[in-house]
Amino acid sequence: MNLLDTPTDELLAAARARRDRVWKRRITYSPKVFLPLTNLCRNVCDYCAFRRSPKDEGAHTMSPDEVIAQLERAAQLGCTEALFCLGDRPEAVFPSYRAQLAAGASRAPSTISCGRARSRSTPASRRTPTPAS
Ligand code: SF4
Repeated sequence: MNLLDTPTDELLAAARARRDRVWKRRITYSPKVFLPLTNLCRNVCDYCAFRRSPKDEGAHTMSPDEVIAQLERAAQLGCTEALFCLGDRPEAVFPSYRAQLAAGASRAPSTISCGRARSRSTPASRRTPTPAS
């Protein structure tokens, strides 16, 4: 099949047929909570709508209490996974964030290890869908 010369309807039909052959009509999802630990980031990627600097409107770093409250609420709602999201090593460029980390998570020397420390207390089960037989 030449993808560039094939009409859209035929492409969609072929894609549906392949999906149904491999996966049947199964729909999968992950019951997870999304936790944006901080939207501070040392980088400035042009396409990014997430990143903030400390004084930007909408800049936010979750406190440990916020994280725990969100995890507890998620568990009540049946979530079995937590997705931690954050900018790239904001502690490398923002002294205020370094101070926040030191004050709030003195055991965690970086954002990454802070996220790991918080995630250890969260039950998680990874589900990887497999093709239907
Ligand atoms: S959060 Fe990710 S995409 Fe956004 S500026 Fe930072 S590195 Fe780039």
